[in-house]
Amino acid sequence: MSNKEMSARWQATMQSNYGNPELAFVSGKGSVLVDADGKKYLDFLGGIATSVVGHAHPAIVKAVCAQIKELGHVSNFYMHPRAIELAEKLIGFTGAAKARVFFCQSGAEANEAALKLSRKTGRVQLVATEGAFHGRTMGALSLTGQPAKREPFLPLIKDVKHVPYGDVKAMNRAISRKTAMVIVEPIMGEAGVIVPPLGYLKVLRQLCDERGALLVLDCVQTGMGRTGQWFGFENEGIIPDVITLAKSLGGGLPLGAMIAIGDCSEYFKPGDHGSTFGGNPVSCAASLAAISVIEKRALMKCAIAHEREIKAAFSKIVGVKEVRGSGLLLGIELLEESAARVAQALRAKGILVNAATAKTIRIAPALTVSSAEVAHFISAFASVLKEAHK
Ligand SMILES: *Cc1c(COP(=O)(O)O)cnc(C)c1O
Repeated sequence: MSNKEMSARWQATMQSNYGNPELAFVSGKGSVLVDADGKKYLDFLGGIATSVVGHAHPAIVKAVCAQIKELGHVSNFYMHPRAIELAEKLIGFTGAAKARVFFCQSGAEANEAALKLSRKTGRVQLVATEGAFHGRTMGALSLTGQPAKREPFLPLIKDVKHVPYGDVKAMNRAISRKTAMVIVEPIMGEAGVIVPPLGYLKVLRQLCDERGALLVLDCVQTGMGRTGQWFGFENEGIIPDVITLAKSLGGGLPLGAMIAIGDCSEYFKPGDHGSTFGGNPVSCAASLAAISVIEKRALMKCAIAHEREIKAAFSKIVGVKEVRGSGLLLGIELLEESAARVAQALRAKGILVNAATAKTIRIAPALTVSSAEVAHFISAFASVLKEAHK
């Protein structure tokens, strides 16, 4: 089946919520994807920050095959070892003395779980940020600060205040003794890789402590080492009350988690929440394998090294305003509103990126991306901009 044939069948069968994709991918290895017509692409989007160790990584394939042969699913009436091992790993990464994990499948579900947990404070008011993305389900959408995504589905959950991202004064005004939780992304991914001023999360930690609100950090996109740290907020030297994870967590398989730290780790009681597939053994095995690859190959250090290479190279490319972000979650801000055209031109050259906004190209390649692949990406990008500026 060619791309074209698939497109016709897709359009006849799928809801049109994703528009009409033109490409179908049939295989992948590392940072290279192969489409239905046999054309190869360098994947600099990594399945939107999901394929953290690349496609078909042997360690993931091995772990998944071994687990599915042994036991594929058990439900939450029973325990199984992989979920326990993964929870222990994640809690270890938080550095907190006391924490508990709830496993689910997606980022939206992880944030839904955080939202429900916050109700256990006895408060209902919520504070989130403008432009933030926290997911598409009704609760998560209520937290999402993007009017275009919200408006067709009003009314959403009441009592959510959205304040400008990175603005400490606005947060100071919005957070009160009635606030149940404050949710922010350490770096806003979908909004175009927006980095807050240094110290922002530290001030939020203080404000939440003062007023008794939970500080929830949505690390769905910044997590799993992508930013050069396990979660993406560690440079601020704080510990939040709740961390939500998904995207890269499953190493390419569906897996989400809500980690509650300290007192709030005790809020959920039997019967309060659940998910049939939450903490599925196969997804947990893939996640453990991904973590092991990240640790053994020091991929967080690699991510930082690539960030430096990319930022240095792009500072010399005409047509680029700046490169924002950390590790391998980067937003390349163009001088003109040409991101969609640049993304299209890169695709024609066999490179996949995402036009996150009119001016911003977002990249989130696998942490296993090679220096040669990074160099190829940089030179292709430079030549696309050179052609555009002729
Ligand atoms: C992608 C994303 C989500 C939603 O995750 P899904 O798995 O699509 O539900 C939530 N928060 C952030 C920061 C994200 O990037």
